[in-house]
Amino acid sequence: MTNSDDVRGGAVLSPRIIFIWRLVQLIVWLIGFAIFFLLIFNPAVGLLILWNILIPVAPALLVVATGLWRNICPMATTVLLPRRLNMSKKRKMTPLLQSKLQLAAIVSLYLIVPLRHAIFNTNGLATAGLLFGAAVTGVLMGFRYDWKSGWCSSLCPIHPVEKLYGASAATTLPNAHCDRCVKCSVPCPDTTPDFHPAITKKNKYQIWSGLLTIGGLPGFIWGWFQVPDHTGANSLDLFLKAYQYPFFGFLASLLCYVLLRKLLEQNRDRLLISCFAAAGVSCYYWFRIPALLGFNHIEQDGLLLDMHGILPAWSISLLTILSTCFFFWWLVFRKPVQRSWVKRPVYA
Ligand code: SF4
Repeated sequence: MTNSDDVRGGAVLSPRIIFIWRLVQLIVWLIGFAIFFLLIFNPAVGLLILWNILIPVAPALLVVATGLWRNICPMATTVLLPRRLNMSKKRKMTPLLQSKLQLAAIVSLYLIVPLRHAIFNTNGLATAGLLFGAAVTGVLMGFRYDWKSGWCSSLCPIHPVEKLYGASAATTLPNAHCDRCVKCSVPCPDTTPDFHPAITKKNKYQIWSGLLTIGGLPGFIWGWFQVPDHTGANSLDLFLKAYQYPFFGFLASLLCYVLLRKLLEQNRDRLLISCFAAAGVSCYYWFRIPALLGFNHIEQDGLLLDMHGILPAWSISLLTILSTCFFFWWLVFRKPVQRSWVKRPVYA
């Protein structure tokens, strides 16, 4: 795919390229809608596809091709509809409000994800309700605010993870959403090279969201994998249990991050962020790969294909070690790429 630069310095996409991206967005959106439909009418299949196929691919995709995800995410396609259909009021969100919403996004990620064990992993209707609630919120924000400021770059709970994992993307793709840049988000996460969660520290909300994302995520992920699924959790005790380990893991790694930041020289900050990003995504696959293949340390949660008795246990250990080596190499040891996720379109 090629695109050219116009005199205003941004990238202009040819109609053919725009058509291809729209087609891909439509296909992915239809897949997303089909999963939503299955969650309601065939929950077993819907839950399997969502939690054990789509979500396990997502962290690796965010690391390697953040821009691809930003271009084709079905939720983004949905919430940007008001803007695309010219039904948005196109309000410019203040940087302060955007910072507050970004903090709300990381807090809601930490509050929602443990509920997967308590309810969402095993209840299709509840998961469909969660997705529906997110889509309605995003669309309402899209009716008011311009382009990605209302959801994709502010309130979306996945956005903090994109920022942490996506600093070393393989390539910069064309921007398949915004046709003209209206500077809806400053700095724009999509078009700023080497974007990461601590890049903006202009107010306390930005400082806190950077800190919670970088420091808390690896320990939170570790803690999350120590909790079994509670099918139909209906007591307060079980709900609280879903939060215990993730919360303590979150606190422990946050503390490590704060201490290391104090101990290391300031010019090592960027390296520390990369190490925490690599630790987070490696920890995810360290537990996720065995679980998907039937080698989970906790019952049969998160099973995709039971290879127990077919594959030797050492091959699973080898896979997890290789995945950890890959993510540390990609995020920490590779030469810094200083790339943005997508190209900036021309200014409006
Ligand atoms: S490219 Fe411009 S319009 Fe698009 S998300 Fe970034 S700042 Fe907003």
